Parts: sequence; C-alpha cells; structure tokens
Amino acid sequence: MSEKCLLCQSERVAVLTHDMLKCRDCSFFFVSLPERARQQASFHLISEQGVVPEHLERLKKKYPKDDHARKMIYKLYADRVSAWYGESVRALDIGASGGFFLNELEQRGASASNLRTLEVDPTYQKLTEDYFGYMGDICNIETFKTEQKFDLLTMFDVLEHVDKFWLALANMHSMLDEGGRLILKLPNGNWSYLKYVVSKAIGRADKIPWYLYLEPGGHLNYWNNRCIGQLEKAGFKLETFEYAKPSKQQFKQQYWPRMIGYKLNEWTGLQLFPEFIVTFKKVAANQGS
Ligand SMILES: [Zn+2]
Repeated sequence: MSEKCLLCQSERVAVLTHDMLKCRDCSFFFVSLPERARQQASFHLISEQGVVPEHLERLKKKYPKDDHARKMIYKLYADRVSAWYGESVRALDIGASGGFFLNELEQRGASASNLRTLEVDPTYQKLTEDYFGYMGDICNIETFKTEQKFDLLTMFDVLEHVDKFWLALANMHSMLDEGGRLILKLPNGNWSYLKYVVSKAIGRADKIPWYLYLEPGGHLNYWNNRCIGQLEKAGFKLETFEYAKPSKQQFKQQYWPRMIGYKLNEWTGLQLFPEFIVTFKKVAANQGS
C-alpha cells in the first residue's frame, strides 16, 4: 500500500492496524482511502431515507430543547460572532443538530431568516425545524452548491466525519464573503492516538474501533495542534486555537475529572485535552497559497 498523507501529501506515512494511518511529517491521524470509500457507501443512504419518526423521538430525548450539553461553548462563540458581525450576521451551521448554536445567535439579535442549516440526515433537519424553525438543505458539504454568501460557517464535531475534507473546505471558502469565518470544533488527534497506542499496549486492540469511533458515519480525520494549521492552504488564516473548556452542564459528574484534565493540559503543555476549537478567517484568493 502506498498511501500519501491526505493533509500534507507526504509519503512518509505509517500504516497502522484498523485501517488507520499516521503521517510522520505532519502527524495527521486518519482512516485509509479504501476504508473511507467503503464507509461512504452506507453514508449516502441517510439522505435518501427521509424523516424517521422513531429516530426523531430519540433525538428529542437525547437533545432536550431546554438543556443542551454544549450550551456553554455555543454561548462563548455566539458572543464572539455577535461582536464580529453584529445583528446582520448570516450564518450556516453545518451539522446543526437541532439548531442550538444558531439559536444563541438569534438570542443576540440575529434574524432567523439569516440562519440556516445543512444536514445529511433529514431527521436532524426536522429536529431543528420543530425546535427553532430554521430552514436548511439536505446535502453533503463536499457537494453542496448555493448562491448564498455567509459571514459565518460552523462545524461543531463535523469535519472529522467528512471524507473529502479539502473539497469541503474549498466549497466553504466559496460560500464565505470576504472577512468571513469558519469555526471548527474537533476531537484532538493527540488524545485519540494515545488511546490507540495504549489500547494496543495493554492488549485491548479490540476496543480501538469503539474508542476512535471507527464505523460508517464515524470519525475519519484526527487533526491536532501541530497539523490543524495546514487547513490554511484552503484559503484561510488560523486565528485562534483553544481546547474546549468543559462545563458542568455538559459533563455533570464527570465535570471535575475533565476540568482537572483541562487545567493539567494547560499547565503542562501536554496538548492532550480531548477536544479543541479553531477559528479560521477567509483570506483573499491571492494571499492563500
Ligand atoms: Zn502529513
């Protein structure tokens, strides 16, 4: 097998078990091309099946309208977005999962008609419409085409699932107006790779697919603090990188262990905290290379 790094194109790629690869140059950790293709085949079916009522009921239990686990993160970023673009902000949340982030923008004065979603699963779009009424499209971000321009695109826990992420980024670049921004929340590849290595070392390689969410519709891409900046090549400037500070609301009884991990990560510079958030700003075409 002669696969290249999907992020930096280096050929110095370590072939691991479980169809995983790791770039020795940029440290990107990812699922192999043949396995990506195999998974995509089942992913496309979701868009075609329409709204599934039982699934919708399950989602409403999992994400109750008044108690969203990621609310504190959404509030933090909605405050920033509001400071950048004010009430006229035009935002598209890709993988909106009920529209909770968009709703934070609306609470800060954004007009509901400027807030849109993009989903691959119609049941998730129905959830957003039932909760907050935001309209959206059902399409893959790699192939989605629109004449609309946005100030803000958000992907909370989404880009790690996207097969052709360069295509997705080029597409998003064209959908943003000058000065527009892209916010990505992602799992930390350092942490995922540590789980991979430790599972093997203690003889529990069978747990790896579960720890790394390796299944159709699961995770394909793991970036980290070292390699996430490579995405600038799609015509962006990396503005901020930060680990996702845990909230009591999200983690409940797990809050203190998480918070201690967060603080240790901060103090020691280990770069192992499980999730991070980055902001990219669109740069003019002739600046990004
Ligand atoms: Zn690489």
